Amino acid sequence: MKIGIVGLGLIGGSLGFDLRSHGHYILGVSRRPSTCEKAIAMGCVDAAGVEMNLLTTVDVVFICTPIGLIVPKFAELIHYLPTSCIITDVGSVKASIVQGMAPHWQNFVGGHPMAGTADSGIEAAQRDLFVDRPYVLTPTAITPKPVIEVIEGLVSQLGSKIYHCSPEAHDSAVSWISHLPVMVSASLITTCMGERNPQVLELAQNLASSGFRDTSRVGGGNPELGMMMARYNRQALLASLQQYRHHIDAAIDMIEREDWQALEEKLASTQQARPLFTE
Ligand code: NAP
Repeated sequence: MKIGIVGLGLIGGSLGFDLRSHGHYILGVSRRPSTCEKAIAMGCVDAAGVEMNLLTTVDVVFICTPIGLIVPKFAELIHYLPTSCIITDVGSVKASIVQGMAPHWQNFVGGHPMAGTADSGIEAAQRDLFVDRPYVLTPTAITPKPVIEVIEGLVSQLGSKIYHCSPEAHDSAVSWISHLPVMVSASLITTCMGERNPQVLELAQNLASSGFRDTSRVGGGNPELGMMMARYNRQALLASLQQYRHHIDAAIDMIEREDWQALEEKLASTQQARPLFTE
């Protein structure tokens, strides 16, 4: 298949690597010529450039730009594509993107690979990023079945586990397990950096080990992506953050009251619940 990728960064470049390794011909479009040259040199794409008209003959396009540019790039792109071309995107929010694209292109299905690293840009692209990771597709009632099947076929080649849901259910679910953790983890780092005693701060930085590495990882990632998650999934994220604040207040209350039994019970219930998300 001839596949276009718009936005050659962590996700676009990684998709290019894996789809190319399955024999697809990959054409990339990115903003900077230097990124296009790097993507070719790294082997993410067969050819790349900064002009959308490079993609006039592709069968499928993955739009992999930052979230806020997905709908504007789509609007630009469709002038160059035959109506038979299938378009998908990889944005971390779905309702606003699907609303902005589905009414204008019949052969569209929204997608979101649940994989990433703390790095960004083409240099961060890596092989096998999507293996064994969930990949969500958000077809609507009017998405043609063959379109879903083509994207499912490509996603299967990435080694991902496919899930289907509505764009709205996606946004609520990722608010709990992805967007809330970014805000919590960022707040953890900010709170630790608030230590006023420079010696204690330095000691804490030296002592930080695997626990801090795990809990701070997503708060130390791409700032633009974190901001866009909040901006484009605002309602669901606010609801999650308010629930989180409620639970922090409850923990403070237990500790202030020295209610160690209640605290231990709370921690026992979280110990039991964690595998429901991670296994
Ligand atoms: P990224 O590494 O910053 O890559 C985005 C790329 O888009 C940049 O390398 C940039 O390339 C290109 N770009 C920027 N403006 C452009 C424009 N006007 N036209 C064409 N290309 C442009 O970000 P990412 O992490 O791959 O995220 C990309 C998308 O994947 C986002 O929508 C995000 O929600 C989604 N996503 C991210 C993750 C994650 O964990 N990172 C996971 C799943 C989905 P230049 O170098 O050419 O400027």
